[in-house]
Amino acid sequence: MKFPSEPFKIKVVEPIRRTTREERDRLLRGAGYNLFQVPAESVYVDLLTDSGTSAMSDDQWAGLMLGDESYAGSRNYYHFEQAVRSIFGYTHVIPTHQGRMAENLLFSTVVKPGACVPNNIHFDTTRANVEHQGAEALDVVIKEAYDPHCEMPFKGNMDVVRLEETINRIGPDRIPLVMLTITNNSGGGQPVSMDNVRRTRVLLDRYRIPLFFDACRFAENCFFIKEREPEFVSTPILDIARELFSYGDGCTMSAKKDGLVNIGGFLSLNDDRWAQDITNMLILVEGFPTYGGLAGRDLEAMARGLREVLDEDYLAFRIGQVRYLGELLDQAGVPILKPIGGHAVYLNAKEFLPHIPRAQFPAQSLVAALYREYGIRGVEIGTVMFGKTDPATGRTAYPELEMVRLAIPRRVYTNMQITYVAESIIELFRRRETTCGLRLTYEAPVLCHFTARFEEVLQSSPVAQPAF
Ligand SMILES: *Cc1c(COP(=O)(O)O)cnc(C)c1O
Repeated sequence: MKFPSEPFKIKVVEPIRRTTREERDRLLRGAGYNLFQVPAESVYVDLLTDSGTSAMSDDQWAGLMLGDESYAGSRNYYHFEQAVRSIFGYTHVIPTHQGRMAENLLFSTVVKPGACVPNNIHFDTTRANVEHQGAEALDVVIKEAYDPHCEMPFKGNMDVVRLEETINRIGPDRIPLVMLTITNNSGGGQPVSMDNVRRTRVLLDRYRIPLFFDACRFAENCFFIKEREPEFVSTPILDIARELFSYGDGCTMSAKKDGLVNIGGFLSLNDDRWAQDITNMLILVEGFPTYGGLAGRDLEAMARGLREVLDEDYLAFRIGQVRYLGELLDQAGVPILKPIGGHAVYLNAKEFLPHIPRAQFPAQSLVAALYREYGIRGVEIGTVMFGKTDPATGRTAYPELEMVRLAIPRRVYTNMQITYVAESIIELFRRRETTCGLRLTYEAPVLCHFTARFEEVLQSSPVAQPAF
């Protein structure tokens, strides 16, 4: 295994308070075994999300001091516009405070009730914003994406055959745009190949349907293209990005990921008419077009982050660090989703805790145990997040996968901390039968995973109920 040596040194440190197991046990009970309810200060390694958690560089921090907070025409907007244009190449650059606002502005402008928006897999906010318009958010990823054991280089690819069938079934007039999420977050941070983007483009050209990218992790996706598509082995990442975006008509972006900032996003597109309508809505709900809900200094940090994220040493370290964690776990026999994605390692909780029936939330139980034993915070991506209980029958429809996502913040943790995470998980895996299941005691009507409460089911027998 190649050790991912850091391409930076540390200039500012943020102390982490160490906690005891007793303290974490108390906090966990108080939080109803829901890690969203635990104060971040009581977490040792926080792998809840890679969104907005990046460490900025000295150049970005210096940029903050150069913020021009003029209401209109701030110089930072022009820097930002230039940075976005030079990578993405689209005509209009519309800043927003984060990604979901870009989605909301786009969909509320171009998606009508009864329409359908295909994507490889919609991210939660993308799906919610499409559905909010009374339209259908359809996932058309290749079927291998749903098999945690299937190893393929571009498991985020669009199923182009199924996309064509979908267009013919629904009718191109009802599809205002198609989206491609790079990398495919909800499918495990798996990349989309350039070849797949080209084939999607050719198909959509035949039906005159625009293609938009959900570009949150575009640089990570481009790194995988360079690594895995022979045509691009010696192409600079910037050129890969430019070619990739040239096949689209626009993109939405949460800069909280590959913008390397703590807040920010944008929408960029070529269509003048759409851009005009979106800009009018932006002024109504977000802000003037040269700041879009951000301070001038935030735009400057974003402009600088977008350039830094294309640095190959950075990307090799970034992808390498995630892979390093995944490989340590895999070599010790810990069940993880394969191949290892760009921003996170996913533990397969059904296989990690086979003695806990699905009705007792194996992934949530694993999240709770990781925190109590080691102070590590991951996030459940399984029944709590996606399970649907029919109020009439009380029966639960379980999602296909029951995962714990360990999302790695960018440039935040040292390899030693990542090693600590791996060793902790391996130790827990070796005594996995000591982990018990959970029982739901409170469930909110919507987005229940943020506020759900649980209690421990104490004697979880090793030959429990059949797995659902
Ligand atoms: C984070 C994310 C979004 C939403 O961005 P926010 O900045 O959190 O609003 C959209 N799509 C994908 C793929 C994401 O990962």
